[in-house]
Amino acid sequence: MATDVVRSLDVPADLIDAVRNFPTHRSVAHCGETFTVGPFEHYATCPQCGERLKLRSFSANYEIEDVFDAVFEWMNDPQAQVIAEARRRVIQVDDD
Ligand SMILES: [Zn+2]
Repeated sequence: MATDVVRSLDVPADLIDAVRNFPTHRSVAHCGETFTVGPFEHYATCPQCGERLKLRSFSANYEIEDVFDAVFEWMNDPQAQVIAEARRRVIQVDDD
């Protein structure tokens, strides 16, 4: 993506808040019971009936998990990992 396109993107404040407060697990209800799975799982298997449950859509509509996946994909670049670690340290110090 060209830099000028990236710079002109409107990023809604709601998205930033949602990422910042994103839960580290996902609750799934089935068979009258609730169980938890990782937040990025595409599927879960109900521990009661064994049914495989689809958790994420594969439609053209993006979900917040797709934002995380895009960041994780970016972080697969070793240089991006270095940048991300440095930025995390700055944010952590700023929060203290
Ligand atoms: Zn079930």
